[in-house]
Formats: sequence, structure tokens, C-alpha cells
Amino acid sequence: MSPRIAPVNLYDLSRSTLGELVASWGGSAFYRDLLWSALYRDQVSSLEAIAGLRADLQERLVERTRLGHLAASHQAASSDGHTHKLLLKLEDGQTIETVVMRFKGRATVCLSTQAGCAMGCVFCATGQMGFVRHLTPGEIVGQVLYAVALLRASGESLRNVVLMGMGEPLHNYDGTMEAVDILCDPRGLALGPRFITLSTVGVVPGIRRLADEERPIQLAVSLHAATDAERSALVPAGRKWPLAELMDACREYSARRGKKIFFEWALIAGKNDSVEQAHTLGKLLAGMDAHVNLIPLNPTAGFREAPSTPGQVRAFQDVLASYALPSTVRQRRGIDIDAGCGQLKAQVEKRR
Ligand code: SAH
Ligand code: SF4
Repeated sequence: MSPRIAPVNLYDLSRSTLGELVASWGGSAFYRDLLWSALYRDQVSSLEAIAGLRADLQERLVERTRLGHLAASHQAASSDGHTHKLLLKLEDGQTIETVVMRFKGRATVCLSTQAGCAMGCVFCATGQMGFVRHLTPGEIVGQVLYAVALLRASGESLRNVVLMGMGEPLHNYDGTMEAVDILCDPRGLALGPRFITLSTVGVVPGIRRLADEERPIQLAVSLHAATDAERSALVPAGRKWPLAELMDACREYSARRGKKIFFEWALIAGKNDSVEQAHTLGKLLAGMDAHVNLIPLNPTAGFREAPSTPGQVRAFQDVLASYALPSTVRQRRGIDIDAGCGQLKAQVEKRR
């Protein structure tokens, strides 16, 4: 018989839901806050380590709840020492990737929101695996807690969170937003929503919902092509949500939230890196409060194309600049450790 798992992962709960649970056992808001602080300020490693609890509450906790900590099943550090890639194991045995990056004292963690992904982008290692399941809020929060502990060991703290690991965050809208709210709770980890970036393949209903809600996180939209025919060949979700609808949702988001949108473009040699394609992108985004992130392709097992050359990347940027569109070339950090989305998992499974 497998060991019994307590039903409630405390990291799945918002502070108010935790309060309701504690209240149902006759515990006041004082105990809710004590617990919350133990979870997110002290980051206790076991329920037994929570000090100051009433004995009956402690008993209920041990009986009914658990701390869903994640354990690393594989780790790799890049040769420059700045990138730490983790394969974390979930309680049902699924594995997900989390990447910790340190730039000039400001650490960033890249989180997964699903095991696998249903969107099937042809160049993406996660897309090539297919969809397994959504992550729970506690599994998303658990990745952050792992990263915080890792950084603390070297005296560093976490500032930025990017939802750019495995999975499509707006396909797991509720799980992702509940996790974001826990991460930003001012009495807990107290991360700044402005330092959280959500990257989406372009799930239009999700972008519209985000536009309606008061959650000042940053939005990044993966474009990769500026015509429907070219985009759908790389990003099948482009058939469901064509560019006209996607750009409409983006403009509404910008207007409602007053925020700049980041657009991502994986530069693939000879596919989407021509000067003409840069002009098409320039026209598509002209007049918007936009920033383009160019990511030279990380070749994957199922997509053997090459990244664009530095000269081609510069020519592409020059065209964007002529439309007053700022752009940044994102470094491919940790290339030597398969640090592209889904790539470490694919590599480890192949070795097995
Ligand atoms: N599902 C979301 C977030 C995860 S992917 C999304 O698609 O936006 C994060 C970013 O990495 C996306 O812009 C995605 O297109 C890009 N990406 C995935 N695989 C890549 C690869 N092999 N090379 C370069 N960029 C890649
Ligand atoms: Fe999913 Fe994003 Fe990969 Fe596309 S790029 S398959 S949406 S994780």
C-alpha cells in the first residue's frame, strides 16, 4: 500500500482560504498569520517545525495537511555559474523544469505552469512532449520556494519571476493566478507584481481576462511570425486565435491596463529573420507601446533548424528601429546545460 498523503497541500491555499481552514478548527486569525509566516517568511521544512501553535491545531494540521515541497531529481549548473537548471519532481512522479538565473545580483526564476503543453509549437521541446496536466498553485509556488532556498545559500534574494518554463500559463489561468497572488502576498514572499512576467502563446480569452483584472504583472506575447500563414506553421494555436484577434486583445490590454507589451520572436535562420519579415512585424506593431524580445533559436531534437546569425539579428533590429520599436536580443543563457524550455527534461529522458 502506498503511504497515505494528507489531502491539503498548504502551498495551494491563499491566506484567506488558510484562514477559513484554521477557523473551521476553532483557530483565530492570529493562528492563520502565524502559519502563513511560518510557510513564507521562515520557510519551515516540516509541520512539526512550526513554533507557537496550539496543540490541537498542530494535530489537525499533521492529520489533514502537508507541505508539498518539491525535490530535485536532476540539476545542472552552466559553465559560467550564473544559470542553475532544475528538474523538480512532483508528488505524482511528473517532472518539470525550473531555472534560476543570476544577473548582477538580481536573481530571476523561470517557472513552469504545466507538465507538458498542449499548444504544440513546432520548435519547442515542451510542445514536442504533449500535454500531461496543469500544475496546482502549490506546485508553482513550490518552485519559487526551492529557488529562494537555493539563492539564500549564497546570500542572494529573488527579484524577478518569469512564467516562461514548461506550459502555457493562460491555459492554466486559475492555477497560475492563484500562485501569483500567493507570491505577491505582502505578508508572505511579498514579490512585486511588476517583477513578474507572464509569457503566452497568444490565448486570446486569457489576455482579455487579464485585461479585466487588477493584477499589474507584465505581459509577453510569443509572436514568431507576423502573418497568419507563417505563424500557424510554427505556432498551431495561431489557427485558433488569428493575428487580427490577438492584436485586438493586445491593444485592449494595453489601453485598459496602461502597460507596455513585450513581443517574443525566436529567430530561425532563413525562416522568420528576413528584412521583409521585420518590416511586416514593424507594420503590425507600429504605434503600440511594445518592446520586441528577439531570441535566437535554441535547436531542439524535433526541430533541427539553426539560430539566425548575429549579422542577420542586427539587420532585423535595424528595421524594427525604423518603426520606433525598441528590441532586445535575449541571451541564450545556459545553452551548455540544455536550458531551453523543456530541453533538460527531454535530454534526461533520452539518456534513461
Ligand atoms: N507557453 C508560453 C511560455 C513558455 S515558452 C509561451 O509560449 O509564450 C517561453 C518562450 O520561449 C516563448 O516565447 C517560446 O516561444 C520560446 N521558446 C520555446 N522554445 C524555444 C526554442 N527552442 N528556441 C527559442 N525560443 C523558444
Ligand atoms: Fe507551449 Fe510555449 Fe512551448 Fe508553445 S512555446 S509549446 S505554448 S510552452
